[in-house]
Amino acid sequence: MKINECYFANKNYLFSEIADKVEHFKKDRLNQKIYNLGIGDVTLPLDTKLVDVMERALKEQTHINTFKGYPPETGYDFLKNAIVCTYAQMGIKISIDEIFISNGAGCDVTNILNLFKDVTAVIADPTYPAYYDSNVLCGNDVILLPLNKSNDYKMSPSSLSTDKSYLIYICSPNNPTGATLSHDEIEKWVEFANLTKSIILFDNAYQCFIEDNSPKSIFEVDGAKSCAIEIASFSKCAGFTNLRCGYTVVPKSLTRQDVSLNSMWRRHQCTFFNGVPYHIQKGAEYVLSDEGKEICKNNIEYYKQNAKILRQHLSNSNFEILPSNNSPYVWIKIPLDMTSWQYFDFLLSTYGIVCVPGSGFGVGGEGYIRLSAFAKREDILDACKMLT
Ligand code: PLP
Repeated sequence: MKINECYFANKNYLFSEIADKVEHFKKDRLNQKIYNLGIGDVTLPLDTKLVDVMERALKEQTHINTFKGYPPETGYDFLKNAIVCTYAQMGIKISIDEIFISNGAGCDVTNILNLFKDVTAVIADPTYPAYYDSNVLCGNDVILLPLNKSNDYKMSPSSLSTDKSYLIYICSPNNPTGATLSHDEIEKWVEFANLTKSIILFDNAYQCFIEDNSPKSIFEVDGAKSCAIEIASFSKCAGFTNLRCGYTVVPKSLTRQDVSLNSMWRRHQCTFFNGVPYHIQKGAEYVLSDEGKEICKNNIEYYKQNAKILRQHLSNSNFEILPSNNSPYVWIKIPLDMTSWQYFDFLLSTYGIVCVPGSGFGVGGEGYIRLSAFAKREDILDACKMLT
């Protein structure tokens, strides 16, 4: 039996590496308080109304008339209908059979590679590490587009040849930099993708943090339905990092080699995935109701306020940060002559502050760290006092 040797070409998974380092540190320094501004996991508890909804749904499983077995592989219609309505409120027409409920964006953004062969992936550097890692593990070619001051931390197709097709990963607002593409900038990508028969994977895991008029869905842009797949998550907008629920929109008009990618993804999900639990989907449906949206808004505001406090404090303390109000992350230039892993060790050992070293998001992230605003307010305030 031959194994996939690509698994050894790749470094460890970034967030596991950080978790291991922190665990090791905690064992060495039992009394040190840890300020976790690292991994980007939510900290606010779930609202009791949301939990009541899920509890009621779970209790349905105790009655013969309401018991449910396997969920539909692509999700229950009640949740898909709620998603259709959410798109409609944004002026976007998506039909119910274009929506695939998943157990989070992480799985879909990586598993989608199963639909394609001989992939050349186009990935921003720095960005969410799963895009690069999943392509390396599959042995795919990768083109990294550096994000830096000179391009305003935004990727554009201008350096790419129009002679071939690509799988293009767009994360807007970008994790980790927070840079957000405007309508015109996304339009350029859509034109390029349609011209080259490429596919855009639009990861909008952070769309609920957008404050300005940047698109919250790639389908706000004309022409996107013939070149884009949108991947969304309830993790950050509704605190579902543990519950696990997300969805992917594959338009029916999206074809390559005369084959519908919607049908292919349906086939994929029915084979590789057995659906999300009923009570979790009921919770996600509630999140999309007026009442649920209001509850989530409060939590999102809390994290946004955390981000504002961090940004304001760091700017006043002469740290160089990327000015983005659309992101729960703060991207910071390291003020000392250290690599990002050295600065990670420095912050952890000196203050107990956990950050994410920029190089973990790609070589282009070297010289930077990312702080997460998903932390508790008191930890944000304490971290501010220490980072001067
Ligand atoms: N996409 C991006 C850009 C992320 O930052 C994350 C998680 O942090 C994910 C996807 C994964 O989200 P989920 O929890 O839905 O798997």
